[in-house]
Amino acid sequence: MKNYSIGIDLGGTKILAAITDINTGKIVDEVKNKTKKIRGNSNILNITVDTLSELFNKTSINKDDINSIGLGLAGQVDRKNGVLLNGVNLDVKKLDFKSPLEEKFNIPVYTGNDVEAAALGELKFGSGVGYSDIVCIFIGTGIGSAIIENGKIRKGASETAGEIGHIIVDLNGRSCTCGANGCLEAYASRTAIESRILGAIKKGRTSIITDLTNTSSISSKHIKKALEAHDEVVCQYVAEAVEYLSGGIASIMNFYNPKLIILGGGLIQSVDEFYLNTIKKARMKALPIPSKNTDFKKAGLNDYSGVVGASCLFLSYN
Ligand SMILES: [Zn+2]
Repeated sequence: MKNYSIGIDLGGTKILAAITDINTGKIVDEVKNKTKKIRGNSNILNITVDTLSELFNKTSINKDDINSIGLGLAGQVDRKNGVLLNGVNLDVKKLDFKSPLEEKFNIPVYTGNDVEAAALGELKFGSGVGYSDIVCIFIGTGIGSAIIENGKIRKGASETAGEIGHIIVDLNGRSCTCGANGCLEAYASRTAIESRILGAIKKGRTSIITDLTNTSSISSKHIKKALEAHDEVVCQYVAEAVEYLSGGIASIMNFYNPKLIILGGGLIQSVDEFYLNTIKKARMKALPIPSKNTDFKKAGLNDYSGVVGASCLFLSYN
């Protein structure tokens, strides 16, 4: 039996490739490279090949003991053909990973959406162990989500299930990157909170944020510090995001009735107040029975849920 699998977490700032022990979820070896300035089909494929080659050079694990290479990709994925259809933040269109990587490394290649991969990682080795009906929600630049039903990723009729970020919470609301108006991620993603805070500062309100960072980028850690200092602007917009996010989650509890909701992403992991208030308010807004019976947990694998999950993608093809 082959005991190892390779996972690749490929995003707009970095590519992380790791060899995972598929029995324990432990990472044996890993290689990380920056992708910040690398864009376009051929460049992205090249850095993927280079990163994999580096990993094979580094490891003492025999290639014959590796059962698959799994790629968790940000964007729409054609799983059957191993193609990233539309990777907006990598400037990639219809990029075939499967054929060139299988040809070069002679190991089966599986592809999936990055959130789906992270959810699989949590199911197999993270906070989802012991559960079979789970919704995972990751709050970051956007809001990504995946549904696990009877222990398997629910893909949906056209393989796009789980887009909680685009449920509409305000009919006449803010415009969203998807083209619609009033989507949840336009209200409760880290990007949304950031733009509300920056907008208020621009209009003349004072905030500790201007002392914490001199760029227009506000990290989860800045938000945490500002909340600890009871900064009025940051408290206001975090509270606003909690209202919308908890409303979205309550809708999921009522509609889908999962046993467990896993929440992840920088803000959730580092700002307890954001996590705890979101859960509290979601329970208040949901119907009584799901409110009482839904468990909540933080993602357990932190930054590694994506790469560990990608190495488990072969399981979702069985
Ligand atoms: Zn949207």
